[in-house]
Amino acid sequence: MTYVVALTGGIGSGKTTVANRFSERGVPVIDADKIAREVVAPGSAALQQIVAHFGDQALLPEGSLDRSWLRQQIFADPQQKTWLNNLLHPLIQQRTQEMIAAVTTDWCLWVVPLLVENNLHLKADRVLVIDVDEETQISRTMARDRITRQQAEAILIAQASRQSRLAVADDIIDNTGGPAEQEQDINTLFRLYQRLALVKKGSVS
Ligand code: ADP
Repeated sequence: MTYVVALTGGIGSGKTTVANRFSERGVPVIDADKIAREVVAPGSAALQQIVAHFGDQALLPEGSLDRSWLRQQIFADPQQKTWLNNLLHPLIQQRTQEMIAAVTTDWCLWVVPLLVENNLHLKADRVLVIDVDEETQISRTMARDRITRQQAEAILIAQASRQSRLAVADDIIDNTGGPAEQEQDINTLFRLYQRLALVKKGSVS
């Protein structure tokens, strides 16, 4: 089994940017958000069950899931949230395991924005947290998504705290610096993960 490094961080911390740098070095990247979208794609059994439960309002006119409508429903009703999580989490988990099992390299990166929120850090061999201070998160998210400070702050508040993410970290990239510093951290971690993966395989002690 491949060695799994979970990569997480709050919104705007730089998860996508860092994951892309590893991907350029040939590391397979498994994206939890992408899997979460895949399991409710048009034609999926999960989407049919959601429509049977919530009604046609859960669909956009072209037949795909209206994610923002659904988010509002579960935000207002914890029971509905539990129902949805009970449906989706096992499917997401199964698909993730399939994708990890298909990896042929010694290690892979598993990008999980809600790692701490969903208690998934226990499923990885190693946890890498991309860390910036909250002000940097807010300003980078505002610039990237063209949203107001208030909107960015609301997203941050709904996420796990910076401290709770750092508490589960094995490694931390401080991403407040520029690309050169980021590059140096990535090179160091790339070598470390290569080595840890070989240790797991039993090729090196
Ligand atoms: P996430 O995937 O964690 O939400 P992104 O990787 O999309 O975050 O980064 C958020 C924004 O910050 C993007 O616009 C990205 O280009 C920018 N960014 C990422 N890392 C840095 C950095 N080290 N310095 C400056 N800007 C950065």
